[in-house]
Amino acid sequence: MACEVYGGDEEMCISRKDSKREWIPLGRPCPRVDLSLRNELAAATAYHMLSETTRPSAPFWLMLNAGSVEDARLSLGRAMSAVKSVKVQEALTRMHAREAKKDAAARKSEENAARERRRVVKGLQSGRR
Ligand SMILES: [Zn+2]
Repeated sequence: MACEVYGGDEEMCISRKDSKREWIPLGRPCPRVDLSLRNELAAATAYHMLSETTRPSAPFWLMLNAGSVEDARLSLGRAMSAVKSVKVQEALTRMHAREAKKDAAARKSEENAARERRRVVKGLQSGRR
């Protein structure tokens, strides 16, 4: 049910390094939050709203999955509060910064590999002369 951080039998949700660097200082070793079933629809709606790819379908998804207009209205309110909350925004900013850093590192490593390939090819060509 929960990861080992919370005494469960699943693996940790994030790496120990990320936990130590980002979450332990906030007093929570793991970013995972198990929502009450009451908030499940709101959480799924918020999740749809956060991604550019799924955002356009969020209202339809909510209307089709809510049991009633009242359920949809309450869930939308909760989802909006979550998406707009400072804590969520800050966490997303940190996550995006981490992803950008990883992308930059991957690009750099790719560039180094390409440079190395060119160097080897050049070495082979000059060796033939
Ligand atoms: Zn966890």
